[in-house]
Amino acid sequence: MLDYLQADLDKRQTQGLMRQRRLLDSPQAEHITANGQPFLSFCSNDYLGLANDPALVRALQHAAAEAGVGSGASNLITGHHRYHDQLEQALAAFVGKPAALLFSTGYMANIGVISALMGRDDAVFSDKLNHACLNDGAFLSRASHHRFPHNDVVALEKLLQASTARHKLIAADAVFSMDGDIAPLAAYLALCERYDAYLYVDDAHGFGVLGPQGRGSLQHLDLQSPRLIMMGTLGKAAGVAGAFVAGERIVIDYLIQSANSYIYTTPAPPPLSAALLASLHEIEYGDARRAQLFAMIALLKAELKLTRWQLWPSETAIQPLIVGDNHEALALSQYLQAQGILVPAIRPPTVPVGTSRLRISLSAAHSMDDVRKLVSVLHAAEAAVPAGIAQ
Ligand SMILES: *Cc1c(COP(=O)(O)O)cnc(C)c1O
Repeated sequence: MLDYLQADLDKRQTQGLMRQRRLLDSPQAEHITANGQPFLSFCSNDYLGLANDPALVRALQHAAAEAGVGSGASNLITGHHRYHDQLEQALAAFVGKPAALLFSTGYMANIGVISALMGRDDAVFSDKLNHACLNDGAFLSRASHHRFPHNDVVALEKLLQASTARHKLIAADAVFSMDGDIAPLAAYLALCERYDAYLYVDDAHGFGVLGPQGRGSLQHLDLQSPRLIMMGTLGKAAGVAGAFVAGERIVIDYLIQSANSYIYTTPAPPPLSAALLASLHEIEYGDARRAQLFAMIALLKAELKLTRWQLWPSETAIQPLIVGDNHEALALSQYLQAQGILVPAIRPPTVPVGTSRLRISLSAAHSMDDVRKLVSVLHAAEAAVPAGIAQ
């Protein structure tokens, strides 16, 4: 096995697909210290700049002093702390759903919910560009799994029409994590009504950012239905860690009884929920942060004038700069790094072959100077970065 692993690693290296971790020595922020050097970063999903917010840090410290740091037992034994409960109620109210359930991560929420709700006689319908953990959930559920082309409502309808499954679940990212575009959720919901299906919306990148007071993509699109189940992550715009699922009370009650990644695990420490209650307050009263974020998005789109690489259309904090070739995307990322700017090169299998890209993510913590610096270094890179080798 070890020989096989080494051969696989060597192959990744020659294909320009090797990934590296950087050692972070500062809080997550727009200016970070990584591998001992200072950088301007466009890497994080901390869209509102809350990951190092003093109010959240204080809430966590205060709660740790009072409630300790360990949950100590699973939720169904004695691990369900008052802070967890308060946060669930606050999240449900915030997104306008009857009930909510906390999970330790978004990954665990997706695999837990889909595998609990779906079984052998059921069918899951997923956008081809969905986040990997939605696919893992479908796989774990043993339901039949149908993947439709990105945002293709017509193809999805054909699949639903042909399905004889007992229960049907459409699963989609609300805001696609590597493209930044928004799924046609209103059309999906109409299909749910028509074909007796349910819609599971992964709002990892919309919660906190989109909709009135940052209530998320569903409120942004003004969608309400008992057929809707939403998942929001709490480690991105919310700045901490974890995730929640919100929906009808019946759905949440059922998940408490049946979602393995909820039942057979120790919940996140109670002080994290206290920090998230503080975060939720910052999100709700965070119109100024969101205005700053959207100003930075507009500034980047207005000032970036490249001929060699293209920004794909996105109205959100995720701005994908499509390069195409793996090596060229990596070379561009490395060029920026040499100028003190971090933007990750995203390559297959995270994105389709031939669409390697720089994933620029913007934050309310960025200033106009930060964005202008990125723009000017990208302009200089057009002439400086060698073209990729055709694969
Ligand atoms: C980040 C992400 C997840 C996973 O959330 P974690 O809390 O980081 O595990 C799920 N879905 C999407 C679309 C994501 O971007």
